[in-house]
Amino acid sequence: MGVQVRSFKELDIADYDAIVVGSGFAGAVVARELAERAGMRVVVIEKREHIGGNMYDEYDEAGILVHRYGPHIFHTNDRRAFDYIKRFTAWRTYEHEVLADWYGTYLPVPFNKNSMEIAFGEEKAQHLTDKLIETFGDERKVTINELRAQADPELSEIADFIYKNVFLYYTQKQWGLTPEEVDPSVTARVPVFVSRDNRYFQDAYQGMPQDGYTALFESMLDHELIDICLSTEAESIFDLEFESNEEDAPLTAICIKDVEFTGPIVYTGPLDELFLSRFGRLPYRSLDFAYETHDAEHVLPCGTVNFTVTEDYTRITEFKYLTGQEHPKTTIMKEYSHPYDDPKTQIPYYAIINDENNAHYERYLKLTSGLCNFHPLGRLAEYRYYNMDVIIGRALALADELVAAE
Ligand SMILES: Cc1cc2nc3c(=O)[nH]c(=O)nc-3n(C[C@H](O)[C@H](O)[C@H](O)COP(=O)(O)OP(=O)(O)OC[C@H]3O[C@@H](n4cnc5c(N)ncnc54)[C@H](O)[C@@H]3O)c2cc1C
Repeated sequence: MGVQVRSFKELDIADYDAIVVGSGFAGAVVARELAERAGMRVVVIEKREHIGGNMYDEYDEAGILVHRYGPHIFHTNDRRAFDYIKRFTAWRTYEHEVLADWYGTYLPVPFNKNSMEIAFGEEKAQHLTDKLIETFGDERKVTINELRAQADPELSEIADFIYKNVFLYYTQKQWGLTPEEVDPSVTARVPVFVSRDNRYFQDAYQGMPQDGYTALFESMLDHELIDICLSTEAESIFDLEFESNEEDAPLTAICIKDVEFTGPIVYTGPLDELFLSRFGRLPYRSLDFAYETHDAEHVLPCGTVNFTVTEDYTRITEFKYLTGQEHPKTTIMKEYSHPYDDPKTQIPYYAIINDENNAHYERYLKLTSGLCNFHPLGRLAEYRYYNMDVIIGRALALADELVAAE
């Protein structure tokens, strides 16, 4: 049948039981579940000209499949999430590897026993590895902060080396902050691994959709009860009603085409933008991507190389490793991180998590807490960093609730 794209102008909103804003994993999974399990008619409102959220991929001019919004690799320990998306596409096994370019020498990331041998030489690395195993145990992941807290001078030496050569400059480029200023939940995501396992992720299920993410989303949203309005911003079609004219007065209803919508509204866009940033914009980091196509089968030794001590971009990804595509040419992508300061031309990628920003977000969230058919979901609406599998899990959980209520 194919995805059913409709013009918003032509819709009769009374035909729908639920509205989903956004067609990334948060929105697409809920839409599919409500349609399939509860027989609800769902309209998906998407501001971009395509479905798939930040997972969207496409063929570039050279015919190479590339990710438009940053490289996405699926990995999870959540069996339900993996089984769920496996329904919509064939899957290829892929285990991502990352190397840090350390002044031209490659070190496996996360920094592990192999990296230690390259950086310190075999003999010294063996001694330091024994010490790490003695302190933390074998096959353990240790955060840089845990390592730096050790009093032992040899452990401090490893910690200092990793801090200076793997974390410091990369973190500064990525966040515009020193590692100390970044929330510990962020630094904890890149541990030191007491192991010889060079894989970037150790999850039980890892892979990539055989025909790409866009094809996966096309299959997920291909349902007779789901309609999609592309290039349509929620703010432009929602009339918000509030308890009073006070700035913090709670939302009491969302009207569309002059009628209050009483079915579930699952909102996966940025919450501040829904309220036209009345308390100021929530801070994010944004990214610019520079693509280069080369006349060679491969230019990198693995999927991603992080530049931890040189260059002004953070990392380069070579898509053919991720997608498994065979082609005589290859396309790579350099990532440049910068503050998000213009919603018209930039995309909010990473929420900057800290107490102040969380409180700022909570103020927006509070506006919605009285409206029981409004459900904020996803990395933007919840102002968090979530991997895809976590979002799929959260979307399934919300769908369970909504289906049960139905
Ligand atoms: C650079 C980068 C790389 C990543 N790599 C990985 C990875 O390798 N593995 C992994 O598991 N996770 C990765 N992630 C996380 C992954 O992108 C998220 O888990 C995923 O995008 C969450 O899906 P979502 O639906 O919440 O958000 P999104 O994918 O952002 O989807 C939200 C959708 O809502 C639409 N929208 C927003 N506002 C409005 C509005 N006002 N009106 C209408 N539509 C609107 C947007 O256009 C978008 O399509 C990465 C994230 C980034 C930033």
